[in-house]
Amino acid sequence: MQFSQLGLLPELLRAISEKGYSKTTAIQEKAIPAALTNHDVMASAQTGTGKTAAFVLPLLQQLTENRNNNKAQVRVLIITPTRELAAQIQDSVLTYGKYLQIKSVVVFGGVKINPQIHQLRRGTDILVATPGRLLDLVQQKVINLSKVSTLVLDEADRMLDMGFIPDIKRIQALIPATKRTLLFSATFSNEIRKLARSMLNKPLEIDVAPRNTTIETVSQKIHPVDKNTKSSLLIHLIKKQSWRQVLVFTRTKHGANRLVKALTKAGIRSDAIHGNKTQGARTRALAAFKNHETDILVATDIAARGIDIIQLPLVVNFDLPNVAEDYVHRIGRTGRAGIKGSAVSLVSADEIKQLRDIERCIKMHLQRHEIEGFEPSQHLAESRSFSSPAPARINRSNNKARPRNRSEKNRSQLKTEHHSQSSQANSNGQSSTPVNHSRNRIRSFSPKPSTQRSRPSQAARSRVS
Ligand code: AMP
Repeated sequence: MQFSQLGLLPELLRAISEKGYSKTTAIQEKAIPAALTNHDVMASAQTGTGKTAAFVLPLLQQLTENRNNNKAQVRVLIITPTRELAAQIQDSVLTYGKYLQIKSVVVFGGVKINPQIHQLRRGTDILVATPGRLLDLVQQKVINLSKVSTLVLDEADRMLDMGFIPDIKRIQALIPATKRTLLFSATFSNEIRKLARSMLNKPLEIDVAPRNTTIETVSQKIHPVDKNTKSSLLIHLIKKQSWRQVLVFTRTKHGANRLVKALTKAGIRSDAIHGNKTQGARTRALAAFKNHETDILVATDIAARGIDIIQLPLVVNFDLPNVAEDYVHRIGRTGRAGIKGSAVSLVSADEIKQLRDIERCIKMHLQRHEIEGFEPSQHLAESRSFSSPAPARINRSNNKARPRNRSEKNRSQLKTEHHSQSSQANSNGQSSTPVNHSRNRIRSFSPKPSTQRSRPSQAARSRVS
């Protein structure tokens, strides 16, 4: 659909066209008209699908149409879980609103509060914020939220995982009950639906992507490899295939630092981005990566949350995430806005549980490719048929069956630490098994015959339940 069919202001259409967008994405086509109606909206869309513009454009339009001539007061409050995402949303507001007279300020932790206070004192129509810093500023009486008419909760699933919901409830109590709420989430767990029921009033529901299916423009594969050879395999792949602009995920901050050390030693330009780094260091690392001064950016899940790099060709999972839905978020960093991308996971035998959880979550089996010279000595057990009873139900569980938050999950899976291993994805990034949304067909999926099947390892069998 053309943006001009949505009844957007000429100033917005001009900014969109300068940005180079020719057509709306699916979420934009549905969410923009919904957000323009003043209803609450609950939208599920994968990352990288253009969901920021889907809420920023209608909000800019409404703020302009309902201008008041007083000093700007916060009328739109956008809450996001991470600093990077907050900064990115602010960039979008400035880009799309460049021909409008709407003021916007972004606040997040990890940087000095005084410049933010100074900016806020000059007034703003839109405030983009992470929850902790917002509450700090409210406590310091720098922000008045009494005129907020729209609350946007972006990446609500991640806020839930990060334990932000009590903060969100506190923030909600500070803004008028008459406000409307737009809630966006890449994935919709039962908990998110429960949250939405408690916060939204008869929302228009938009679901443009089947839940927890991975973006179809991303080809996915795994390289079975021993844990202690993951780093060497990654180095081998980077060099052999001349990988550039690769985002590599590790589960831990220390793992990220260790990997950067190994890559640097091998002469590969890399940097890490994680929660122990200052905001300045994170911003610099991201800028260097975007400017091609580094080739490899190693990130933890939370730090990577807001990263948007257009045409990022490849995401590597050095470790599989403990939470299956994080896999969807991770690989959503590539294949953005319809561009093709690849996701390669280095999987060691001790990660079989995570692999099975992921495959169940995305409803497909990932193709396995061993890399010559890096064949694992520890056998990676086979995938399971999706009809098999699952030990941990990721997406259909109720509160009792599922750990409530990430730390609980992490605690429950603490024993499954993994580090490096690798296997090489060969060059062309073979497509993974197509996404299959039909329940019946899903049931008929059976584990892929694999080379590993013929040589079961006793060690693996005894290690993997
Ligand atoms: P988002 O899901 O909001 O993080 O957006 C992902 C990427 O898609 C960003 O780089 C946007 O600039 C880009 N994008 C958003 N809308 C469109 C569109 N209609 N056409 C092309 N690219 C878009």
